[in-house]
Amino acid sequence: MIFKLQQVFHSIIKSLEVLYVIEGIKPCARIMVFENETEKAVDFLKQNKIESSISNFKVMKQNLQSEFYSDKSVKIPKDSKQKGYFFIYLSKDKDTAEKAKTSEENNKHKELGLLLGYPKCCCEFFEKNFDESNTDLTLKTLENSNGYEFPFYSNIAARHFDIALLSHFPCKFNCNESIKIAKNNLKIINKYSPQIAAMFSGILQGIVVYTIEEGVFLLRKYEKINDEIIYGDVLTTSKSKLYYLLSSNRELKIADKNTFAVNDVKIEGQKYGAMVFS
Ligand SMILES: [Zn+2]
Repeated sequence: MIFKLQQVFHSIIKSLEVLYVIEGIKPCARIMVFENETEKAVDFLKQNKIESSISNFKVMKQNLQSEFYSDKSVKIPKDSKQKGYFFIYLSKDKDTAEKAKTSEENNKHKELGLLLGYPKCCCEFFEKNFDESNTDLTLKTLENSNGYEFPFYSNIAARHFDIALLSHFPCKFNCNESIKIAKNNLKIINKYSPQIAAMFSGILQGIVVYTIEEGVFLLRKYEKINDEIIYGDVLTTSKSKLYYLLSSNRELKIADKNTFAVNDVKIEGQKYGAMVFS
């Protein structure tokens, strides 16, 4: 089933969103579909008894961090000659899909989040912190969190590599309601593909170095002894200077969530986040 979904929706994250709605663990989902492929997507959803509504605008993705995932996009009119993506809102209930569509049109972030099944605390967090110039709230989530060690279920940084168990920004990395959703999602993935479930759990457990301008890094196969971490390979969204620093050294010292050192080069500030997900 996941393979079939991927043939229509391409990314694993998008395919899983559709699967959660089919399985009835998510009331409604919102996915971006390239305009030439919306008909194919809607047909597929119909065959699986899923209702859908299509946004009355298009968006162009701005690929700041990755080829898989974009937090930022620019609205363009739906009949614009420029090619773009539509949002498809899908649900077993036509009314819910329609409501999601109109909430987005009216910029009602909290209402949209609640329709998509996100926890109230996280919807309020999003509404409070989101604006057009601040679309990636990952470091805000970190700011709201205590310490830098968190359960892997809420590792949303891996979305840049098409891997995630959550499709919202949690209000904090140990938000209980979010972790509950992520655990449930992992159960469903495991039901259809134990291999994908194992791969997800493996990649989500790692060290994350998160920056807005210099890329997102997953440091894998790590060993942590007190505040010293030794790691194996580095997944990156950007071949920046920081990437070369991280990949040519295999040792990281985390002092706190915004302060770390790679081979004695100290990096600190609100623009940098270091987290351990286990
Ligand atoms: Zn929350």
